Amino acid sequence: MARTALVTGGTRGIGKAISVALKAAGYDVAANYAGNDSAAQAFTRETGIKAYKWSVADYDACREGIAAVEAAHGPVDILINNAGITRDAPFHKMTPQQWREVIDTNLTGVFNMTHSVWNGMRDRGFGRIVTISSINGQKGQFAQANYSAAKAGDLGFTKALAQEGARRNITVNAVCPGYIATEMVMAVPEAVREQIIATIPVGRLGEAEEIARCVAFLVSDEAGFITGATLTANGGQYMAG
Ligand code: NDP
Repeated sequence: MARTALVTGGTRGIGKAISVALKAAGYDVAANYAGNDSAAQAFTRETGIKAYKWSVADYDACREGIAAVEAAHGPVDILINNAGITRDAPFHKMTPQQWREVIDTNLTGVFNMTHSVWNGMRDRGFGRIVTISSINGQKGQFAQANYSAAKAGDLGFTKALAQEGARRNITVNAVCPGYIATEMVMAVPEAVREQIIATIPVGRLGEAEEIARCVAFLVSDEAGFITGATLTANGGQYMAG
């Protein structure tokens, strides 16, 4: 029977590409999203993948949502923590709400989701968890103290949990994308985007499918010896920046 994969924020952008790649690889995929129903409906029409609405920032909603996914698809073997938001502001203008929203979604959301599938994976002796962090969690970014803190936190979380999962055949890894051409990045003013591209050695933004292929590798049986790792895919930007 096909393994079940759950992708948070799996209906748009990088998450959509991950959902599609995992389905193509033979997994039974469920995609979660937060509130954009029309995008989720279009996604399901296009891909045939079922979408489930809840916020990863809400612990109880995660438990209920995962129960609904498991009732329809069977136990979650593979969890991709992809849902993420930005609320950028230079620190002197950052509000407590901007801080909280980003930490709640990008860091606590990863706890909420992982905690809700962890015991099942331990009991069954198999699991794959991949969290989408960011180059900005590795190097920090102006006006993203909240986002950089959350994404760096995801990397610490990954390395700690990898140690706990190892003997149970659960691998826990992170992918750090550089700048990828999704709505999140295309919302940045064009002039700023051009400045960003100038700092990327390969001279272009990444494609969501390039991140999806990293994830598909990390969840495969062939990647069973890789755990606690951070796979960076940034066109050389970290090295050059
Ligand atoms: P998008 O904004 O294109 O899509 C975000 C997805 O996450 C949507 O499906 C959205 O749902 C969902 N989402 C947002 N908040 C929640 C929530 N509270 N609960 C459940 N789902 C939620 O983002 P990207 O594809 O650009 O980014 C995906 C991930 O990759 C993020 O973690 C981001 O930080 C990370 N990343 C992105 C980079 C980039 O260049 N784009 C670079 C590095 C990292 P809905 O459609 O309902 O709003």
